[in-house]
Amino acid sequence: MIQPRLIVFDCDGTLVDSLFAIQHAMEQAFSALALDAPPAEAVRGIVGLSVPQAVEALAPDHPPETLAAIDRAFRDASLAYRQNNPQSNGQLYPGTRAALERLNTPNTLMAVATGKARRGLEHVLDVFDMRAFFMATQTADDAPSKPHPGMLQNCERMTGVAAARTAMVGDTTFDIAMARAHGCTAIGVSWGYHPVKDLLDAGAHVIIDDFAELDGALEILG
Ligand SMILES: [Mg+2]
Repeated sequence: MIQPRLIVFDCDGTLVDSLFAIQHAMEQAFSALALDAPPAEAVRGIVGLSVPQAVEALAPDHPPETLAAIDRAFRDASLAYRQNNPQSNGQLYPGTRAALERLNTPNTLMAVATGKARRGLEHVLDVFDMRAFFMATQTADDAPSKPHPGMLQNCERMTGVAAARTAMVGDTTFDIAMARAHGCTAIGVSWGYHPVKDLLDAGAHVIIDDFAELDGALEILG
């Protein structure tokens, strides 16, 4: 009998292009504390980390209480953005939905592992009607920030699929390093927020340029 395989998708930069909304909320957060907003490119680099780690990376010289205040302001700004712009909170990348429908077979289980808060991920799953595809979802509220392998360990526990039969699909070095720490296959996507060279340097087994290439890349799992 063939053992089932598990595909774990990152969210921002992999399934959904949400960079504008995240950059906007981060600008609002820094502005609320009368701090200079970090450059857009710097924000692009930290999408994928959980919020505390992202804020610390963007404002390393500030004391913990300031970082905590930015964190709160970012969460508030994200929620306000979602409420004020219910239809413009990002869009699915081309081929996302078709890939999920194609791969949704009895032998393939799917999950999401994201640095988003639980509240943010639930919103995305509802907006794009994707909830039914995923047997497990992991967020910043469920495990340590990527690249710690905790989210993938939880996915293994929830699905019963071991690392040897698991592939992580993501756009950042945080996803690739998390996959490597878990001991599963690391598939990088070139359409997201980190350069392909960085994904390869972090240990990606393969890079795909389009969701149409995912099925072929998954043959690594046998
Ligand atoms: Mg990402």
